[in-house]
Amino acid sequence: MMTAANVAKIDKTMDALVLTGVNEFEVRSVEVPEPGRLEVLCRVEAVAICGTDPEIIQGHFPGRWPRAYPFIPGHEWSGVIVKLGEAVEGFGLRVGDRVAGTSHAGCGICRMCTTGRYNLCENYGREEIGHRQYGHYVNGAYAQYIRCSIKTIFKIPDALPFAEAALVDPASIALHSVKRGQIQPGDTVAIVGAGPLGLLAMQCAFALGAARVIVVGHGERLQKVEAFGGEAVDNTQEDGVKAVRRLTDGRGADLTIDCAARGQTPRESVEMTRKGGRVVLTGVPLESVVLPLQRLVLEEMDVYGVRANRGTCEEVIPLMASQRIQASSLITHTFPLREFRVAYDTFTKRIDGALKVIVEPNPQ
Ligand SMILES: [Zn+2]
Ligand SMILES: [Zn+2]
Repeated sequence: MMTAANVAKIDKTMDALVLTGVNEFEVRSVEVPEPGRLEVLCRVEAVAICGTDPEIIQGHFPGRWPRAYPFIPGHEWSGVIVKLGEAVEGFGLRVGDRVAGTSHAGCGICRMCTTGRYNLCENYGREEIGHRQYGHYVNGAYAQYIRCSIKTIFKIPDALPFAEAALVDPASIALHSVKRGQIQPGDTVAIVGAGPLGLLAMQCAFALGAARVIVVGHGERLQKVEAFGGEAVDNTQEDGVKAVRRLTDGRGADLTIDCAARGQTPRESVEMTRKGGRVVLTGVPLESVVLPLQRLVLEEMDVYGVRANRGTCEEVIPLMASQRIQASSLITHTFPLREFRVAYDTFTKRIDGALKVIVEPNPQ
């Protein structure tokens, strides 16, 4: 356990995954950052590769994520506080605390922030008044240390291993998605996409009272669906919309969550939902899709967008610690940071059934 006594042992330099241009990266030595007034420095123990990371690395968001090179990505992480900023007192944070991180720090001032919707902060990108999005436009967690706002870290119990705690961020997004969709006890929930987010959303739906969860996807990942008590639909064998209707006596799901956002899945999500039902779009579509508007209107359907999470990290941590949400079952691979390229290939090419790939900047 880290104590105040060994804070001084923090090195001056650290290994970090540094992006130097589109699709160009290397693990190199950089300076360890100093925490600002309301920031902490954490030793990073585990980072989970997110689907957004390859998009950032491949330059899909030019000038936005990142704004410039060199840049350190990574936003799904856990670690230990090693140094407190000068004003970090009275927040219940101590050197040695185990924490999980998330990406968004709102400004805390705008209308969205003051109504709790800090993920929609109106001052996005204004670092001078405290906005941050780690691993997107502010340096992130693929490094031995991360400097971050105390708004973006959450204490985790000893029962939650670091690797699982690195999934607090995506699990909090899954929980936010299910809550956005106004889940009701006994609901039949359809989830499009059997990737990590879809599998986490399934577990969150069960934790919040779903009676049935039908997951539409393909590949080995579908085996996990049944292991968690869900019903798997292989969309390479059967049309997802038809399958969900068949499994619900033609009615459709009460709530559908699109975690895939590929091609026509937003439209299909509407079409597999019942009259008066709810559709949540969690995956970020890269193209515009025509939704059946007449149906949305005449069947009084509700459609919700989801951007990251807000306030659900603290809700999801106890669910993970009590194994209501089993993050461990989604972790298929672990690599040291120095082998990031292998970890990246494993994740992006889905080698050996890769789901969540963990990177350890400080392997024991
Ligand atoms: Zn993520
Ligand atoms: Zn704000």
